[in-house]
Amino acid sequence: MTDLSHMAYYIETFGCQMNENDSERIAGILDAAGARRAASPEASGLVIVNTCAVRAKSEEKLYSYLGRLRGLKKRRGLVIAVAGCVAQLHRGDLSAGRPFVDIVIGPDNYHRLPELLAAGGAGARVLTAWSSGWNEEERRLQVRANPSSAFVTIMEGCDNFCAYCIVPFTRGREKFRPLPAVLSDVEALARSGYREIQFLGQNVSAYRDADTGAAFPDLLDRASAIPGPEWIRFITSHPRSFGPEIIAAMARSRAVCRQLHLPLQSGSSAVLDRMKRGYSRSDYLDKVGALREAMPGIHLSTDIIVGFPGETEEEFRETMSALEEIRFSNIFSFRYSPRPGTAAARTADDVPLEVKRRRLAEVQALQKSIQTEIHRGIVGQTIRVLGAGRSRKDPAVFSGRSEGSQVVNFTAPGDPAGRFFQVRISGAGPYSLRGEAAPFDPSRSVDYRP
Ligand code: SAM
Ligand code: SF4
Repeated sequence: MTDLSHMAYYIETFGCQMNENDSERIAGILDAAGARRAASPEASGLVIVNTCAVRAKSEEKLYSYLGRLRGLKKRRGLVIAVAGCVAQLHRGDLSAGRPFVDIVIGPDNYHRLPELLAAGGAGARVLTAWSSGWNEEERRLQVRANPSSAFVTIMEGCDNFCAYCIVPFTRGREKFRPLPAVLSDVEALARSGYREIQFLGQNVSAYRDADTGAAFPDLLDRASAIPGPEWIRFITSHPRSFGPEIIAAMARSRAVCRQLHLPLQSGSSAVLDRMKRGYSRSDYLDKVGALREAMPGIHLSTDIIVGFPGETEEEFRETMSALEEIRFSNIFSFRYSPRPGTAAARTADDVPLEVKRRRLAEVQALQKSIQTEIHRGIVGQTIRVLGAGRSRKDPAVFSGRSEGSQVVNFTAPGDPAGRFFQVRISGAGPYSLRGEAAPFDPSRSVDYRP
C-alpha cells in the first residue's frame, strides 16, 4: 500500500449529504495510507475540494475557493485536488485552464487517490472513469464524523433525467448496493453504538437488490429488525417510485422516523410535466394523504424550484397553494439555474431574474409562517431528541434533532452527543424549538406521535 505518512490533508466539502458522505470515504482512504487530517488548508500539504455542480452558484463557490488555494500554493507549496461532481463534469477541462490544480478525481475513483498522490510529477492527473461495482473495502474504512448518526449508501447515480438536473451527468447511471452489504453495514454500526441510520441515495425509493429482487420496503423491514439503532431515516425518495408498499413498511417499522423528505419541485402539473418528473400535483397530494393516514403527525419536507422555463404567474401560484395545502415542516427552495447538458438548458431561461427572486422570497415568507405555526403547535409537548453537540451560539445549550427532524436547543445535564433526551418544549421560532430535558427514560412514553 502507498505510504502517505509524510502528508497532512484538509478536505473542504460543498453540497449535499452525498458529498459529506464521500468526504468521509476519502478521509478513510487517506488515513489508511498513513496521512494525517489537518485543521486548515494552511496546516496541510494536500487540500481536497469536494464539489457540487447542482446549481451554477455551487460551481462558482468552487472557483472562488480555488482562487484562495492558488494564493496559498504560491506562498508555501500545496497539492490541490478537485473531487466530486464538478470534477466529474468538467474532467480535464477543469485543470487545463487552471495549471495549479494537480488532481481531478470523480466519485468512482477515490480509492486511487493515494496512488495519484504518490505518482507526483508535473501536470494534472485526471481520473473520472465510471465503475458499475461497489468498493466495499473503501466503505469499511470510512471515517464517520458524527458518533451517533451514520449515513449508509444504498444506491448511487440516477436514471430519472429530470429536465433541470445535472446529477445523472455527474453521478452516472443508477446502481444499487447489494442488500447483504447494506445490512452488514447497519449491523456493524449497531454494534458500534450508532443510534440513527440514514440511508442515502439520489432515488432510494427505486432501490432493488440485483440478486434477490428485494425492493426498498424489504430493505426497511430487514434494517428495522436489526437491534440497536432507534431511528432510521432515508433521503432522497422520488414521488414516482414512492408507492403504498413503502408507506406500509414505514408504518410497521419500530424504527423508521415519522419524517419524510419527498421533493415536490412545483405545485403545477404543467410545470411538473415540463420538468419530466413523472407525476402530477394530484398524484403527489394522494401520496401525502396516504402517508398522513398511515402515520398521523408525520413531518414532511420538500424541495421547490421557482422560475423553471416558461413558469407563468398562475403556475407559480399553484406552488404557493400546494405549500398552503400540504403544510410542510421544512422546505429547501431554489431559483432555477440552467445546467449544461440538461434538457431544460436547451430552452430559454425566460423567467427574469427579478421575477425568480420575488417568487423565491414569496415561497420562503409563506413557508416561514407555516413553520412557525407548526412549531408553536409543539410547545408544551415532551418530545424525543437525539443530542448532537453544543449549540454554536451558546455552548451552555445543547443542540439536537427531533424525530420530525426539527433542530431543538435545550438545557440538560452531562454531554449531549449520542444520547436520547425527553425534552419539554417551551418555545419555538420558525427554524428551531427550545426546551429543557430530563435524561432519557425508556419506561416513559418516548415517541413523539402527535
Ligand atoms: N435526488 C434528489 C431529488 O430527486 O430531489 C436530489 C437532487 S438535487 C441534488 C437537490 C435539489 O436541487 C433538487 O431536488 C432540486 O430542487 C434542486 N435542483 C436541482 N437542479 C436544479 C437546478 N438546475 N436549478 C435549481 N435547483 C435545482
Ligand atoms: Fe436529479 Fe431528478 Fe435524479 Fe433527483 S430524480 S437526482 S432531481 S434527475
